[in-house]
Amino acid sequence: MRVPKQLETKAVHSGEPHINGAVATPIFQSAMFETFGESNYHNVRYIRLNNTPNHLALQEKLAALENAEAALVTASGMAAITTTLLSILSSGDHLLVQEELYGGTHDFLTKDFPALGLTCDFIDGNDPNSWESKLKPRTKALYVETFANPLMVVPDLKAVVQFARAHKLVTMIDNTFASPVNYRPPEHGFDLSLHSCTKYLNGHSDLVAGAVIGRADLVQKVKMKLDHLGGTLDPHTAYLLQRGIKTLHLRVKYQNESALKIAKFLESHSAIAKVNYPGLENHPQHQRARELFNGCSGMLSFFLKGGLSAAEALLKNVTLPIIAPSLGGVETLLTRPATTSHAGLSPEDRKKMGISDGLIRMSVGIESTDEIIEDLDRALKA
Ligand code: PLP
Repeated sequence: MRVPKQLETKAVHSGEPHINGAVATPIFQSAMFETFGESNYHNVRYIRLNNTPNHLALQEKLAALENAEAALVTASGMAAITTTLLSILSSGDHLLVQEELYGGTHDFLTKDFPALGLTCDFIDGNDPNSWESKLKPRTKALYVETFANPLMVVPDLKAVVQFARAHKLVTMIDNTFASPVNYRPPEHGFDLSLHSCTKYLNGHSDLVAGAVIGRADLVQKVKMKLDHLGGTLDPHTAYLLQRGIKTLHLRVKYQNESALKIAKFLESHSAIAKVNYPGLENHPQHQRARELFNGCSGMLSFFLKGGLSAAEALLKNVTLPIIAPSLGGVETLLTRPATTSHAGLSPEDRKKMGISDGLIRMSVGIESTDEIIEDLDRALKA
């Protein structure tokens, strides 16, 4: 069989074992499988050990999408993030981490790290000169997000890889917002790329899943930790995710284009104070985004001139976008990060991160762009 080369072909054909000629990989709803003399516990075929035919097929597809050596699927994005951190770091170790972060990750680092004997320091992802002073004798890894949620900050990703190599740190990047369509971290020297597959990879807002993609030795290390911690994806969800991924490129390319048009519309609207979208020329990291990414995703955020009350009125008056957390699905979603993704942070921490109560985050779906713009325009006038 020919090996697919392009992402579009891989999304459809990679990791499709055609078991018994089945064009779609069926659901293997069996907790355990007959043994064939496996001598290693981690190779015993059992759902929790992440090695059923559904896991293996999906992992092959995910690794192919990012041109990586290996991949592992997990029960959620947070299972991918926490299990990876706990695999790479041991008690006494230190992590450097970008200051703008998904709220769940921020919570884990600030609330759970101390009891585990782990420490971290936050860095400005756009000021590489300030990183060295934060290094400690036991700094082991550097963690960033491709587009930091929700302000769409793009850290200096090239400098992250160079700095980590110079100081022998493992690099981890949460690539959820970009998806493999817009950025493939292993191609740029990142050791591990993490995903909430709940978002773009699945794309249909009907499951929760995660992935760790990258260097085979590190992915194997994470698999062994996951085997113990038990954050395993079940075969039915693996099947749904595999199905969702087949249309990833169609959805994300459309969402890239639609989000840019919506960002331009909002930017020119008299009720809007500021739009955060790296595809806009006035975004501070626009040039970097153009150089590194195939597109800037369907995610954007904006501040209204009328502050919190105007934001609440907008959310009340739109009729097509759904007011709900999460992102990356086929339907356009609006949310106020202060009450959803970043609600776990203290008001001071949110302020430091630039997340005011009136900030609105938008996940652009695959509806007609014109119809979404019409609806926003009407709701902003109302
Ligand atoms: N990373 C990012 C950037 C996210 O936005 C989220 C969830 O919103 C996660 C990780 C966590 O993923 P999950 O909800 O699948 O655990």
